[in-house]
Amino acid sequence: MARRLVRISLATKFRLLFGLAVLGIILAALGVPWYFMELLAQQALHRPADELTRLRLNEWVLWHRERGPVADEQSRLILMYTYEREDEHVKGPYFVRIGADLAPARALDSVAKRAHKAFLRKRDLVLTIIPTDDEGGEEVYRCFRAVRVQPSCTTCHNKSKPVALQFQPGQLVAMIDVTLPGAAEAAPLVWWTRAAFLIGGVLAGLVALLILAVIIRRIVLNPVRELRDVADRVAEGDLSVRSTIQSGDELQRLGESFNDMLAGIAEQHRKLRAANQALDLKLNELAQANVTLFQANKVKSEFLANVSHELRTPLNSIIGFADLLGESAEDRIRRYGSNISTAAKNLLNMINDLLDLAKIEAGRAQVNLDRVSVSDLCQTLAVLVGPLAGKKRLSLRVDLADNLPIVTTDASKLQQILYNLLSNAIKFTPAGGKVELAARPDPARGTPREILVSVADTGPGIADADQQHIFEKFYQADPTLTKESGGTGLGLAIARELASLLGGRLTLKSSPGAGAVFTVALPVVPREPAAPRNGARAG
Ligand code: ADP
Repeated sequence: MARRLVRISLATKFRLLFGLAVLGIILAALGVPWYFMELLAQQALHRPADELTRLRLNEWVLWHRERGPVADEQSRLILMYTYEREDEHVKGPYFVRIGADLAPARALDSVAKRAHKAFLRKRDLVLTIIPTDDEGGEEVYRCFRAVRVQPSCTTCHNKSKPVALQFQPGQLVAMIDVTLPGAAEAAPLVWWTRAAFLIGGVLAGLVALLILAVIIRRIVLNPVRELRDVADRVAEGDLSVRSTIQSGDELQRLGESFNDMLAGIAEQHRKLRAANQALDLKLNELAQANVTLFQANKVKSEFLANVSHELRTPLNSIIGFADLLGESAEDRIRRYGSNISTAAKNLLNMINDLLDLAKIEAGRAQVNLDRVSVSDLCQTLAVLVGPLAGKKRLSLRVDLADNLPIVTTDASKLQQILYNLLSNAIKFTPAGGKVELAARPDPARGTPREILVSVADTGPGIADADQQHIFEKFYQADPTLTKESGGTGLGLAIARELASLLGGRLTLKSSPGAGAVFTVALPVVPREPAAPRNGARAG
């Protein structure tokens, strides 16, 4: 999955992170004094609130008992329990004006609800600043005092009640709700103090951010931008550019390291260019040497072809005269004649081989394409080499697939390849062994692209080390063996060159003691012929 990079500039990152850090620090720094200021304000009011609510509670108790006068008719009592009278049965919180009779009132407001919750958590006095409509929209302090059942209350109140409705000591039964006189004037001051805190915090934050932004730009961002510009110019290929940061800190050190690195790269660049030029020069020399070598090789091959050609005529005469001598009546002369004839024939064979190779290497070998039946060609070859195999008491087998296609190739060259392979197999396989000539299409089913013709024997086989060189000119795996059977070491080199010329390839599979299998893979329709192989160069 491709990774998407969100690109945020260094400046934005600094602003974001420092902004958050400054905000956190300011909140923490202001939050603590804010909390203590609130605590202080509440504590200053705590005593008057405590006394006033206690006074109101006493007044209410007095009024409750004797229906006496009350000082402040604005104080309210909120009854928290089911109130029962003969004429009505009402439930839930009620507001009672002290000095007045009980009257059902609206549900608890939110401030009273908060106080009620606090009283349920066992607190007895709650002091709070609230905006209220009662005081003409002005902000006032409201104090609440919990009214809990005292043991003395229960003597009268529980007297005639069933047990389920009886009061328990400590039970919350009512709340005194008092607005502190004169406290309303203090409320705006508190709000102003809070506002001052907030404005101070925000201003401090903004100033801190501004200062930080200036410092970061001067100390970090400007040098980093300069370094980036230098890197961009280097990327465009200008290696002469250098960093000029003079901040006297780590960034200056970084710039200097960058300059050192650039100097190193420029030096390497110079050396590389010099090495490249030297390499180009060597390459030119090498190419020229190659051309010279190619021409020399061609001249050599032509010379070899010419000399071989010129040698053949006198050799043929020598063979003719030696054969005549072989018919002499005198025994000694007949023997000499036969020796001369055999040696001359061997020489002629070698010259013929050399001539063939030289022709191929000089690019003068002609390929005469024709439609060839590999099956017929193999049969003819078997007839040709049959007497040789018979002389060595070898069994010669021909195994031809039924579906062999007609091949477009040069018949005489294919015949020469197979003849070389067959004569080697017969030559190197000891008496009583087997030689097999086989041909099959490849692939066996469908339209074949190649046919595979192989010559297998049960001879001594060829060692791994020799297999790499066996197709080189004049290479003989076992010279003692070859001395007995004769040979020049050119047969396989010629066979491989010819196979290449026909667009095919010659391969070997063998292991010592297990015989050898030479296979020619020949295209059914000729491909572009391969160039003469370098390994087959005359030594
Ligand atoms: P030559 O047979 O004239 O020596 P080749 O090029 O035909 O030259 O063969 C090169 C060498 O490869 C031979 O000298 C022989 O050692 C080895 N060789 C070729 N064919 C066989 C084979 N069928 N079995 C064993 N060795 C072989």
